[in-house]
Amino acid sequence: MEKRFDIIVVGGGPAGCAVARAFGLSGKSVALLEADPEGQPKQRFAGEWLHPQGVEALEKLGFGEIAEKVGRPRGRGFVVYPGHGESPVKLDYVDGQIGLAFHHGDLVEEMRRIVANTPGVSFLAGVRVKSADDHGVVLENGPRIEAGRVIGADGRASVVRRSLRGASSHKPISAMTGILLEGVGAPYPDYGHVFLGQPSFLLGYEIAPQTVRICVDVPLKYKAEMKNPDWLIEAIRDTLPPAWRQPAAEQIRKGHLSWQANHFLARADYGNGRRIMIGDAAGHTHPLTATGITNGLVDAIELAGTADFRAFVRSRRRACRVPELLSRALYDCFSREDAFSQSLRRAVVSLWRHDERERARTMGLLMGNGQSFLTFAGPFLKALWGAWKGRGSKRVDAADLASAASWIRLPLAYALAGLVKSRN
Ligand SMILES: Cc1cc2nc3c(=O)[nH]c(=O)nc-3n(C[C@H](O)[C@H](O)[C@H](O)COP(=O)(O)OP(=O)(O)OC[C@H]3O[C@@H](n4cnc5c(N)ncnc54)[C@H](O)[C@@H]3O)c2cc1C
Repeated sequence: MEKRFDIIVVGGGPAGCAVARAFGLSGKSVALLEADPEGQPKQRFAGEWLHPQGVEALEKLGFGEIAEKVGRPRGRGFVVYPGHGESPVKLDYVDGQIGLAFHHGDLVEEMRRIVANTPGVSFLAGVRVKSADDHGVVLENGPRIEAGRVIGADGRASVVRRSLRGASSHKPISAMTGILLEGVGAPYPDYGHVFLGQPSFLLGYEIAPQTVRICVDVPLKYKAEMKNPDWLIEAIRDTLPPAWRQPAAEQIRKGHLSWQANHFLARADYGNGRRIMIGDAAGHTHPLTATGITNGLVDAIELAGTADFRAFVRSRRRACRVPELLSRALYDCFSREDAFSQSLRRAVVSLWRHDERERARTMGLLMGNGQSFLTFAGPFLKALWGAWKGRGSKRVDAADLASAASWIRLPLAYALAGLVKSRN
């Protein structure tokens, strides 16, 4: 193997394959180093839903055939079930755009196959990077490889990030278990489903005809209980649609579960221009809003498309800020149990149910259409006011006040951070 490249990419997940391909196609020599031995990604429970913006990015990078091959190219948006027997609310992608659902391993395997055949790219599987600096990396089995730039696309526990910034400061949010149901369909086969209920909320979607994936979010306070199959079956029973209850209980009893931890790291730091982080290595949030893969693909296109690293950072910070805030706010809204947060949950669903513009706005924000903080603040304040009016009691309760104040703190922190950065 050569010992010097223009670019080393650490990690052959969606972001790493995308950036290696983008630089390879632009004439650079690229080493793409992946720790998994061949075939391993099949096992992994991770991103399985791609927004239309991500599908477009796959096409731009010449991975377009994947959508036909591995996907179920009919993701039209989301259906939210508020619980308590209320009818669902449908949020469609704007302008009839279409997303994609798939087995994570199928997507990664196909991307690796295509990138391995891209001119200029040397793809090495089964190679783990031990450390990185501004001029190259050292592999676990000893050798050093040099390059002009090192790109860390090595996920949430990024070695490249650690080499620059020390131990990761990402925060645990919750645990999530994936359950696969064969032989059943989804109530709305072309949509992702969000079921609000217990233990916080569930996601469900078809990843192939008559194959449904359920993702159960389990707050960390249930750390001990979640290992007990009977507890899990009982906890999700009433939140699941009736047709999924029996098959889900069987899968849980058989232990056919894939657990993952969810963490949060704000997308603020992309490295120093010679050591660069993209994808989850740059930042990650709860998968509820399914933005992780799309973010990594767009990072790749923008990084390869500019020689100005600072412009890349500015552009990505601006584009990711509002979707990240939306993701955090929705996660809290769907999972917090205090009375005011429950009232806020009802107010948000009501806003979506009765206002087509708000539905379109939310879906647009998810897709990064709306970089100004105000696009988030307007509907957020409307929902907050709706929640205040919709509280059970007319008395001003100290617990409600404290909860409302905590709800204002999060967007305020983002607004202030944005203000400080835009002045820098
Ligand atoms: C349960 C769950 C559900 C999710 N659902 C969605 C969803 O529906 N939609 C969505 O868009 N996102 C979703 N996500 C997030 C999504 O999976 C990630 O954002 C995405 O996989 C990140 O891609 P990446 O290439 O940056 O990192 P990864 O996918 O983590 O890939 C990193 C790669 O780097 C390799 N690697 C790591 N360290 C080294 C090293 N030292 N040397 C060499 N190789 C290394 C790893 O083996 C891996 O292949 C979900 C995540 C979870 C956990």
